[in-house]
Amino acid sequence: MVLRIRKLRPCLRSSADVSICWLLYLYVQFPHGCLSRASRGDCYMQVQKWYMLPAQLGIAGESKHEKNGQGRVTRSASPLPDWIAMESTNQQVKDLVIVGGGPAGLTAAIYAQRSLLDAVTLEQEAFGGQTILTSEIDNYPGLPHTDGYTLSEAMRSQATDLGADVRMGQVTGIAHDGASGLFSLSTPDGDLVTKSVILAGGATPRRAGFQGEEKFASHGVSYCATCDGMFYRGKRVFVVGGGNSAAEEALFLTRFANEVILIVRKDHLRAQAAVARELEANEKITIRYLTSIFSLDGGELPSSITFRNNETGETTVETYDEGSFGVFVFVGRVPASQLVKDLVDVDPSGYIMTDERMATRTAGLFAAGDVRKTPLRQIVTAAADGAIAANSAAAFLGRPVEG
Ligand SMILES: Cc1cc2nc3c(=O)[nH]c(=O)nc-3n(C[C@H](O)[C@H](O)[C@H](O)COP(=O)(O)OP(=O)(O)OC[C@H]3O[C@@H](n4cnc5c(N)ncnc54)[C@H](O)[C@@H]3O)c2cc1C
Repeated sequence: MVLRIRKLRPCLRSSADVSICWLLYLYVQFPHGCLSRASRGDCYMQVQKWYMLPAQLGIAGESKHEKNGQGRVTRSASPLPDWIAMESTNQQVKDLVIVGGGPAGLTAAIYAQRSLLDAVTLEQEAFGGQTILTSEIDNYPGLPHTDGYTLSEAMRSQATDLGADVRMGQVTGIAHDGASGLFSLSTPDGDLVTKSVILAGGATPRRAGFQGEEKFASHGVSYCATCDGMFYRGKRVFVVGGGNSAAEEALFLTRFANEVILIVRKDHLRAQAAVARELEANEKITIRYLTSIFSLDGGELPSSITFRNNETGETTVETYDEGSFGVFVFVGRVPASQLVKDLVDVDPSGYIMTDERMATRTAGLFAAGDVRKTPLRQIVTAAADGAIAANSAAAFLGRPVEG
């Protein structure tokens, strides 16, 4: 679709033209709108991608944020998107680059802006990070019964309203020059040079490892109940995992599916007792202990599933109508620490070790949120990490910190 729109580029003269285009696209893709909570995450990701289209095509003057002498923020139109300007001047050294636009990154962006840093936040997929996948958030203080879309959008717009430079973009590499102390970040749109970095890349779902998992990813295998649960209305779903995420997502999926079967590798659940009790009491849910999925087979969509009994090694095959069931995998997450693996210390699971100021062992490199080793991975803790990391970056740069 983007390619087709690129061909239309000469016809697209303003951001209004592009807005109309993506509204049409959304109408086609989501004829029922973004109204249901379950469809919002997916819908919102599309909106975000299309919202960024004028900048990607370079057809609408992106607003540029400048700080005046009093530290207030003003905006002025720039004929070029910032990343194109960056490429042409080549070496415009930033104070700070924040990698990731989840709660940690967006909070860091807010605090960096308040400390008047020349900072940019890059998000590769959808602002809000994992939050956008969350249908109900009941534990973020001050906002009872909110949802991932609402909270993510509030965080993003709060950052941009303050003047923070928050953009779509993927960081594909981070190098550190020991002599100058500068960092060079590779992106598909050119390199960024910066004095400090906050890595707030969060974590991504771990694969369960059964045969057919990759083949059917997004076509019968899902890692996001909020995004895909609605496609299994009235159907059967298998949920892989025995921890809190699997348990909570299994409960969530009962809103759509007729039958939810939890596949637990061990002979017990690792979920908190209260959640486990809720699972066991839910009549739509059955739990198969000591069981793993061995393989998933079928044509376009899966039509048969092979289970293995982890005690006896025995395998059994169950066959269903193609497309009548799905598999949701919740077996943990992989931290996005690969980008800086040579610059930081990590724990055995790959989570980045920091001190209480979010500093890593490389001066000027900070980590915040789910990507770091922390006793609690939640929105509120990610946001707190982001605030501390931005303050630490400001202190590192010898700049006033947010009081
Ligand atoms: C299903 C589910 C339900 C949850 N429910 C709750 C809840 O009810 N309450 C609660 O408090 N917490 C909840 N959480 C946890 C919470 O969402 C996370 O703890 C929080 O989002 C972590 O924030 P973060 O900013 O550290 O990372 P993330 O939210 O993971 O954000 C990281 C961002 O960085 C981006 N990124 C990664 N690498 C790059 C790169 N190289 N370049 C550019 N961008 C990059 C990613 O695309 C992502 O958007 C839930 C999580 C899940 C998965």
